[in-house]
Amino acid sequence: MNKFLFLFLVIPVFGWSQNFNYTKIEELDKTRYENKDYYEVKNYTKKKLKKKEVKNIIFLIGDGMGVSQVYAGLVANRGNLYLRTMPVSGFNKTNASDNLITDSAAGATAFSIGEKTHNGAIGVDKNDVPKKTILELAEENGMSTGLVATSGITHATPASFIAHQPERGMYEEIALDFLNTDIDVFIGGARNHFNKRKDGRNLLMELEVKGYDVVESMDSLKYAKGEKVAALVAEDQPDPYLHGRGEMLKEASEFAIKKLKKNKNGFFLMIEGSQIDWGGHDNHVPYIVTEMMDFDRTIGEVLKFAAKDGETLVVVTADHETGGFSVTGGDIAAGIVEGKFTGGSHTAVMVPIFAYGPKAELFSGIIENTDIFYKFKEALGL
Ligand code: MG
Ligand code: ZN
Repeated sequence: MNKFLFLFLVIPVFGWSQNFNYTKIEELDKTRYENKDYYEVKNYTKKKLKKKEVKNIIFLIGDGMGVSQVYAGLVANRGNLYLRTMPVSGFNKTNASDNLITDSAAGATAFSIGEKTHNGAIGVDKNDVPKKTILELAEENGMSTGLVATSGITHATPASFIAHQPERGMYEEIALDFLNTDIDVFIGGARNHFNKRKDGRNLLMELEVKGYDVVESMDSLKYAKGEKVAALVAEDQPDPYLHGRGEMLKEASEFAIKKLKKNKNGFFLMIEGSQIDWGGHDNHVPYIVTEMMDFDRTIGEVLKFAAKDGETLVVVTADHETGGFSVTGGDIAAGIVEGKFTGGSHTAVMVPIFAYGPKAELFSGIIENTDIFYKFKEALGL
């Protein structure tokens, strides 16, 4: 018998799938997660910071990360998260201009332009007028800029910092907006919005002409030696962590920081843990928990840099909560989480905000999502 045919026939019988280190998300028990893969949390933020001025801002958004999502991650990691080491915390109110419940477009645009806008809006106000984003302001002031996401880079959250479109689904227009800026590093998925377009243009080539090193996988990121890097590491959306995405978010964030920190004027970097939200929409406890811990390990990497650097303000928050998720049982010593949901979409509840670094104290109490834009400007003295 042909050797390959033999493998093809026999492997399914012996359960080849158990040799992979993941099971399909759809096949898991959605109501419960037992974490066998916990990590140690180091307390980088103990170090006293001498500087009072902010040179760099690293803004981390956990999409759909409500208090229960944070707590589920904390229980699964046997009682600790890097978020716990951030000294300042509070809440942000997430409503959109036209709805008590925001989507990720209006939610991220509130952060990026400082105005409540309608659901679906990308970098435009409630009348669809384009407004300068905090990333564009930083760029204008000589800072370096970057975006990192575990979704498509054209997806609502990262797009709201760089693009200006009335509807989040205008992906090809959003991709074109990337070429209208001088963003230094962006890493995410949705390569297809750049090179498989209805207008026939190949924006990957156009980015190269503009001086970007363009890479198409996380493995080839190390070869991107240029000053400007466009990394479209997945054709469509990057895989869930449970499907073997690996440490993409942490590694991409480290890469971006290493590039951006060379600028003596500082940098603005937005990092999104995109898929916490997708676990919420799916009412899927293991999906939420693994994305939450992936995001938290990235926060750890960022805090390590910020503590050493001393002039970096780190802010972590969410655009909204997803799923009406609650932790309804489990075992903190064993890393077991059980949960229930009130629905499959976003909810209106306040979400947590955490800060570390110079001017971190600006981010305590109950604030509006739109306040974050003004606090960033204040921190940077713009
Ligand atoms: Mg998002
Ligand atoms: Zn969502």
